[in-house]
Amino acid sequence: MFEFLKKRRHEAIRALPFPDELRPWVERAVHLYPRLSAEDRRELEQDIQVFLHEKTFEGAGGLVIDDEIRTTIAAQACLLLLHRDTEVYPDLETIVVYPHTYVVDAVHRDGAVVIEGPEARLGESWQRGLVILVWDEVERDVRSHQTGRNVVLHEFAHQLDAEDGNVDGAPSLGSRKSYRAWAQVFSEEYQALGEQLQRGLASDIDAYAATNPAEFFAVVTEAFFERPSVLRARHPALYQELASFYRLDPAEL
Ligand SMILES: [Zn+2]
Repeated sequence: MFEFLKKRRHEAIRALPFPDELRPWVERAVHLYPRLSAEDRRELEQDIQVFLHEKTFEGAGGLVIDDEIRTTIAAQACLLLLHRDTEVYPDLETIVVYPHTYVVDAVHRDGAVVIEGPEARLGESWQRGLVILVWDEVERDVRSHQTGRNVVLHEFAHQLDAEDGNVDGAPSLGSRKSYRAWAQVFSEEYQALGEQLQRGLASDIDAYAATNPAEFFAVVTEAFFERPSVLRARHPALYQELASFYRLDPAEL
């Protein structure tokens, strides 16, 4: 579609009032929601509306997609976009949702997919327009956000990472100066985590982050939104890089 038509359609969608019946799902899904300003809530809801209009949800393994599933996933995904004046996941077309953790044949793979774990998958983020999620994992994260885990934030962080063409742990940052600062902080933290785990020490960043730089970015994104005070206290430089990328300071909300 022509870019200007798409923009005009998005403006029309953003101007619509947010459906009241969906708001309880947004409040439940986004733990920061009650602490957001009225203006931020409106921006989040506008992004959610564009997301719900544009993206296709497909239930797999017998799962029937309903408003709760759609709104929960859209709300968490759009939290990553707040303040960032960006399109709503322009490359993403479809979200496939399974009811439970599923097992797939690992043979049918190509280079464009981020795979979480060898067989039993919690979720996947594909470069070519597809995210796969497991509803019972999403639900678990909604119920207990103290864990610092959130599979939706994780998969959509991969989507942001992929927007520049490479899933390499660095999303589009704009200036070369920003890339340099990001690369320095992220590589130091990534290396420190690897060494800590190698010495058999416990780490406050989930060990899965040590898999590769892309997983590191996705896992620390979860921590940034779900346990911001802890991340800021223990990894202030990392927290600052994420705060300037996400244009949000969740520890201060
Ligand atoms: Zn991942």
